[in-house]
Amino acid sequence: MTTSPVEVPRQAVAGDRRFGFVGRLVSTELALTVAEIVLVVAPTLALAAQSLRASGESFRVVAMLAALMVVGWVRAADLLRPMIAARDAKRAGRALTEAEIVATDRAIRRAPVEVAATRWLLWSATVVYLAVRLATRGFLAWPSAVGMACVGILHAGGAAAARGALWERRLDRARRLVLPNFDALRAFATGYRRRLCQGAWALLALTHATNAALIAVFTELSSAQSGTLLALTVPALVLPMSVWYRSLRLRTRPIERYFDVAVRRPPSRGPAREDPDAVAAFREAQGLPYRLAGYQVLACAFAVVAVVVVGRRVCGFDAATAGRLLGSSGLMLLAMGLYETLLLRDVLRPLLGQLGARHRLPVGEIRAPITLRAKLVFFLGSVTVFTSGLVLLFALSPSQPHSTLLASIAMAMALALGLVHLIVRDMVTPVVALEERADEMARGELARPVPPSGEADEIGRLSFAFEEMRRALRDKLRSTESLNIDLEREVRRRTEVLEQRNLELHDALEKLRRAQDDLVRSEKLASMGRLVAGIAHEINNPVNAVINTLGPLEEALQILVTSPSSEAAVRAAKDAGEMLRVVQRGAARSKAIVQALHNYSRGDEQRPRELGLARSVDDTLDLLRHHLRNVQVEKQIDPSLRITGFPGQIDQVFMNLITNAAQAVGERERGGTIRLAATARGEDVEITVSDDGPGIAPEVIPRIFDPFFTTKDVGAGSGLGLSIVHGIVDRHGGRIEVESRMGEGTTFRITLPAGAQKSPSAEDPST
Ligand code: ADP
Repeated sequence: MTTSPVEVPRQAVAGDRRFGFVGRLVSTELALTVAEIVLVVAPTLALAAQSLRASGESFRVVAMLAALMVVGWVRAADLLRPMIAARDAKRAGRALTEAEIVATDRAIRRAPVEVAATRWLLWSATVVYLAVRLATRGFLAWPSAVGMACVGILHAGGAAAARGALWERRLDRARRLVLPNFDALRAFATGYRRRLCQGAWALLALTHATNAALIAVFTELSSAQSGTLLALTVPALVLPMSVWYRSLRLRTRPIERYFDVAVRRPPSRGPAREDPDAVAAFREAQGLPYRLAGYQVLACAFAVVAVVVVGRRVCGFDAATAGRLLGSSGLMLLAMGLYETLLLRDVLRPLLGQLGARHRLPVGEIRAPITLRAKLVFFLGSVTVFTSGLVLLFALSPSQPHSTLLASIAMAMALALGLVHLIVRDMVTPVVALEERADEMARGELARPVPPSGEADEIGRLSFAFEEMRRALRDKLRSTESLNIDLEREVRRRTEVLEQRNLELHDALEKLRRAQDDLVRSEKLASMGRLVAGIAHEINNPVNAVINTLGPLEEALQILVTSPSSEAAVRAAKDAGEMLRVVQRGAARSKAIVQALHNYSRGDEQRPRELGLARSVDDTLDLLRHHLRNVQVEKQIDPSLRITGFPGQIDQVFMNLITNAAQAVGERERGGTIRLAATARGEDVEITVSDDGPGIAPEVIPRIFDPFFTTKDVGAGSGLGLSIVHGIVDRHGGRIEVESRMGEGTTFRITLPAGAQKSPSAEDPST
């Protein structure tokens, strides 16, 4: 796969900062070197300073120490090589090969142990070599030499343990960046016991060294005496610390059992949410720091008592000194216990976090045995006891130079402040983490679990409750989302159904329209059928007149031809003129009727056009003349009135209304009057068709515009006339009203927009 040239430098820049760990290791290493000098060089030199000066070995010692540092660092650099290669690969944006991943993982696991072991071996070898050399050359008594060697080995071991722990911490951070897919719990499982031991040992050595320094302040023991005591401590510690180690192994069994199942042989389908092993491991892990620290304090107290009892025999110091020795050691053991608790809690916290994140732990079962209040009282109370105890010892101790006192007080203060700092950090960190997660949750980010803050004390249980709340919120949100999706799907389905129904309705409407057109057509044919009889009669009259005139006309013409100058001829010419006019009128009348019929039956245009109302009314009256025999028609139509519309449809309106009116008044013997009027009313044209017929019954009026409603006999009416009129008026953007009084007559009033109007539908219901 090729990477774009823009991406590579960007990744490399980001990588520069993210994957850097060497710098941090170097600074850690320098700090550790200083600590080593305090912890190893100072106590051993205190034991052998005079002999060393006398023997002139100082230069050799410095050279050996320098060589020791260089060898240690070279070895460290060698161990780090695979990690540096992996870091460079990451910086270049290149994925690691399988071999590189294995080598890096191996380096991360082995480097802390090997670096610490190398340093310990080198220091021990140096100290033992020095002790033996000074003893064999007679500058140091053999017991002191053995003491020096023992102290050197113990303290170098403590320094090495601290080095191992710090390296591990640094590399652990680096591991997360270089090997992000690495299983954190697996990494923890491989090294947590070693880390517990490292912590315990480092603290033991530190306490031993500090106690040695304090003893020098509180007592007046000679360097040989204190050397003997320090030397005695080492063998005195062997048995109790072995018991301690044994209890560590016993106590971590539930944790090991959990790791055996969950980590070393992971189940194929991810960890089970409810796991009794996880509950047992959690319970044990949260009590372990207190137990191990307690056991260690007990073991050391046992060793201290033994050393003081035996030391008194060997060195012969007084009871007060013994008391001060016991007091100082007791206080240092108290401080050690506190530090150790806090340190081991730090070591085990990731395990508690992982267990809480992977499993659903019943809060009732994992409740921490010590409450937060008890913890705070114990921690802060112990710090108070420690400082006041030291003050008391200072007060009781033989007078010392000011500088020694100041240095000792500074050291005691540093120890107490360190404790306070660790206690506060221990309490505040989980609260801050909770606050951050609460912020995230408030912003709606619910994907990341809330890690348990550690022990299931009040704060721990708060984080468990938070996690429960997060899960509940997330589930609720998910179910709402899925509900929304379901709803959307349902809405889509319904819309589709509605669209389908709409189409069907559209089809049905189309069919109805076609059926309506068919009906209209048949109604028109029927009305034309009714018209035809009248029209035939109407044409018959002029045609008869023409035919009847033709015989006399022919005779008149013959007279004119045969005797043009006779008197008869003059009369014949006069008659012929009149007869020709009769023929002319008859032909004109026939033509008008044919024209009206033609107009009525023609198809409509596609677009509306301007039309004169007067002509439309005249055409209709021409066609209906036969039906209007007994009827008097009064017209008041302004010949200039024009509207825009479809002429055929407007003709149909007049035809249907005048036919109805004619039928209404025609029912009476004496006939009646039909009034047709059209006037302009502002923007509109108002057309009225009134008759003085019998009127329409009020209960019938609401139904007269319904299709197929008729009160007429079969054959006389189809019931479609007014419904068609209504449709046409509607389509032309007008309205129709009816007024009727029984016995007085009926008036239909149509209002149509004059001139230009909304384009009415091109459909012609009359065709
Ligand atoms: P048809 O004339 O075929 O019956 P119409 O829809 O034209 O159908 O009329 C419906 C009914 O309205 C008629 O049957 C009649 O009862 C009534 N009607 C319509 N015009 C008049 C009128 N001018 N006078 C009395 N009744 C009328």
